[in-house]
Amino acid sequence: MLNQLPSKLPDVGSTIFTEMSALALKCKAINLGQGFPNYPPPEPLIQAVNAAMRQGHNQYAPMAGLPQLREVIASKVLGQHGQDYSTETEITVTSGATEALMSSFLALTHPGDEVLLIDPAYDLYSPALRLAGATPVRVPMCPPKEDDPSFRIDWNRIESAITTRTRMLVLNFPHNPSGLTLKPEDLDALETLVSKRPLLLLSDEVYEHIVFDGKKHLSPVARPTLAERTVLISSFGKTFHATGWKIGYCCAPAQIMTEIRKIHQFTVFSVSTPMQAGIARYLREPNIVSELSDFYQRKRDRLIAGLKNTVLRPLTSEGTFFLLVDTQALGAGLEKELALSLTRELGVVSIPVSAFYADPDSPASNHQLLRLCFAKRDATLDQALERLQGVKNC
Ligand code: PMP
Ligand code: GLN
Repeated sequence: MLNQLPSKLPDVGSTIFTEMSALALKCKAINLGQGFPNYPPPEPLIQAVNAAMRQGHNQYAPMAGLPQLREVIASKVLGQHGQDYSTETEITVTSGATEALMSSFLALTHPGDEVLLIDPAYDLYSPALRLAGATPVRVPMCPPKEDDPSFRIDWNRIESAITTRTRMLVLNFPHNPSGLTLKPEDLDALETLVSKRPLLLLSDEVYEHIVFDGKKHLSPVARPTLAERTVLISSFGKTFHATGWKIGYCCAPAQIMTEIRKIHQFTVFSVSTPMQAGIARYLREPNIVSELSDFYQRKRDRLIAGLKNTVLRPLTSEGTFFLLVDTQALGAGLEKELALSLTRELGVVSIPVSAFYADPDSPASNHQLLRLCFAKRDATLDQALERLQGVKNC
C-alpha cells in the first residue's frame, strides 16, 4: 500500500450540505438544510427531455453545448440584461454551475494570483481556487444589525483588500446564504473599482430567477464596462426544480471564453445531450421563468409568518430560496452546535451560516444565524414550523 498520499486539500472534509443531509436521513428530520426542492420539475420539461431521448439526441453534444440551447440562453440573457453574447464564441453549456466555476477558476487564475471572495461565501470557491493555485482573500460583509437585519457589502473594505496581485473578484447575487441582491449603487461601486485596475469579475447568478417584492435581478453584465471583464455563471437546477440534473452555463467575452473552454473540453468535454435538447425546447415556451419569483415569495412569506410563533427571528431575504433566522433568543454558542441540536432534538435541519466562512469555529464567523431552505412543499414547511415552535428561549 502507499505509505503516503499527499492531499491537495488536506483541510477539506465533506461539505456542510452533505453532512447535514446525512444527519437528516439518520435522524429522520425535516431537511431545510441543503438547498434542493422536494417537488418535481415541470411536467412539460420532463416530457421534452423524454422526447429528446426518443428522437435520438443521445450521442455527444458539441463541446460548447447544443447550438439550440446556446441560442435560447443568448436571447434570455439579452432580454434580461441587454448584453448580446455570441452563441459561437461566448456561451458554453456546463455540468452545472459547479463545473463552470471550477473551469473558470482553473482557466483564469495563476499561481500567485489573489482572488477576492465576499464572506459569507459559497463553500466551493475557496478550495476550487486553491486547486487552481490561486490565493483566496476573504473580505467580510457587514453583519446584520438590530436596525438593519441584513448583510451589507462593504465596498471600501473590498477596495482596501486589492493588491497588485489581485486577479479576480467573485460575486454571488442573489446571495447564498443571505438572499441579498445587487442594487444599482453596487454596480456603480463596481464600475469605480474596475476603472482603476485590470480586475476580472466572476458572477455566480444561479438564483437569478428568484428575486422578491417586484425587484429585478441586477447583473454586472448589464453594464458594458463590467460585462467586458465578467464571467456570468448560472444553472438550470434552481430554475427548474431540478438540482440533480446538473446543467448550467457560462457567458463571457470571447477572449475569456476561449480559455474557459480549454479546461471544459478536457474535464467534461460535453454535457448530457437529451437534457440540453429538452431544456432548449422547453425554454422556448413563453413565461417559463417569470412565475418563479412569485412562487418562492409565497413560500418565503409562509415561513416568515410561521416563524412569528417561534423565538427565531427572520432576517430580510430579497432573493434565493433561503431565509436566515436570528437565534439570539437561544443564547450564545457556535451556530453549528445549535444546528446539530435542532436536528437531533426537534427534527429540523438547518445550515449554520458560519460554514460559509474560512474558519467556522471562530467567533467572527458566528453571528447566531441559521439558514433555512424554503424550497419545500407547503406541508413540509408547516410541519417544520410546528416543530420549531418547540424551541424555547434559554
Ligand atoms: N453556486 C451557488 C451559490 C450555489 O448555491 C450552488 C448550489 N446550488 C452552486 C453554485 C452549484 O450549482 P449547480 O448545482 O448547478 O452545480
Ligand atoms: N447549493 C446548495 C446549498 O447551498 C448545495 C449544493 C451542494 O450540496 N453541493 O444548499
